[in-house]
Amino acid sequence: MSEHHAKPASSIEKICQDSECSERISALNPDQQKLFKTFTYCPYCAEELTFICHSCREQLNSSDYKFCPWCGAQFDDAELKR
Ligand SMILES: [Zn+2]
Ligand SMILES: [Zn+2]
Repeated sequence: MSEHHAKPASSIEKICQDSECSERISALNPDQQKLFKTFTYCPYCAEELTFICHSCREQLNSSDYKFCPWCGAQFDDAELKR
């Protein structure tokens, strides 16, 4: 494990923009959250899910990014690999 990244580590989160849904999503257990990251649509309202940076909460338009375009954090995207 290298601890010498110049950029802070972050991760890509998937959220629903509906605040009621995001409350339900944040209450999920870690295993469910992992599964949630593979979803395309919100299981509570069927809206398309949005990618955000865990560090700065800015919206991303791709889950393929290695770095956040807004805050420069490096994403550990291993969990999103299919
Ligand atoms: Zn929703
Ligand atoms: Zn960011």
